[in-house]
Amino acid sequence: MTEDLYHDIILDHYRAPRNRASDLDGAHVHVHHNNPLCGDELDLRLRVAPGEPAKIDAVVYDGEGCSISMASASAMTEAVAGRDLDDAEDLAASFRAMMHGEAVDRSDDLLDGIAFSGVAKFPVRVKCALLGWMALRDAIATFEQGEESHRVTHEEPSL
Ligand code: ZN
Repeated sequence: MTEDLYHDIILDHYRAPRNRASDLDGAHVHVHHNNPLCGDELDLRLRVAPGEPAKIDAVVYDGEGCSISMASASAMTEAVAGRDLDDAEDLAASFRAMMHGEAVDRSDDLLDGIAFSGVAKFPVRVKCALLGWMALRDAIATFEQGEESHRVTHEEPSL
């Protein structure tokens, strides 16, 4: 696939966001993350379907930020919907590795998330692309710890 196609995919998620909402019925977790380097602000709400294993029943995001941060969060929601929590965590780790220029072992599972691979070349934007995925990992951890919601600010070395 070409960089042009990836660019189009990112633009499409920015213009026609998936699973963008400021509320979620029955949400178990709400986390707020921001990226002070760019000014991106992101709210993520997660609803978990109980079971063995527990699965992501619904995930929505909302926020204000650059096109990369918002589009990446949109693509993330599609890639993790319906996955069990460990699997979603593993996928987030795969995305993070990709953003650090490492080999991607789950490129098909990332769906449109793969379009952000080129962002790895721009260190300043890597945090933007990671924001939604890091919020997801935090939301899963928060759920597993039985907490409800909190805010996280990503300062420079935290990712
Ligand atoms: Zn940004």
